[in-house]
Amino acid sequence: MSRLQLNNNRHFPVFSHLPGEYDANFAYYNEKKGVLRPSHHWAFLGEITYDQSIVRPRYIVKDRSGDEVPIAFHHEPFDVMRYNVNPAAFTVGQTIAVFYAENHPFIDMSYGIRVNSLATIKLIPCSLDTLLSANPKNVDALTECSVCHKTGEGATLLRCSKCKTKYCSQTCQKQDWTAHKQTCVALSQVCLWNTRNWDKFNDFWDAF
Ligand SMILES: [Zn+2]
Ligand SMILES: [Zn+2]
Repeated sequence: MSRLQLNNNRHFPVFSHLPGEYDANFAYYNEKKGVLRPSHHWAFLGEITYDQSIVRPRYIVKDRSGDEVPIAFHHEPFDVMRYNVNPAAFTVGQTIAVFYAENHPFIDMSYGIRVNSLATIKLIPCSLDTLLSANPKNVDALTECSVCHKTGEGATLLRCSKCKTKYCSQTCQKQDWTAHKQTCVALSQVCLWNTRNWDKFNDFWDAF
């Protein structure tokens, strides 16, 4: 299993690359006995730039190609508790991952993503740039404190329990926390995504 690339359209497609809701797009689906099934897992990533919510949550998001599109939420109210995600509370600057996203034509002739179930939604509370620049491999390779650059030889380095960033002491870790918070969210998310094989489709995943 190769490491996921967040800038690769196979697993993290930009909006212009998404399959159309009414198309049989064989870059994303296989046909088996007349039924279309995903050929792999994918998630659209967009950073919230504008809150358009009126009755239902609706956000304009920007993908990594710079395209801005609406994500409109039409989930069941019970989904909020069931999947522990509340789109009404999302804020500008956060990133939304929509698993198995498709390009949906809205009634007003615009295009975007319509969300019918929160099973497909993961909120990542950091910017898209921070998420895209998170590289767990760099963290693993480091042998020094990420604050004071003291090396770990002879002394054991502490690691952030979530993302494994290394520190020589609690003092350095505390000092870094404000700056580290966003990077930590991004690194932890990328590590989590890397725990599964996105190329093997058996069933739909709940967003994670
Ligand atoms: Zn240090
Ligand atoms: Zn961390």
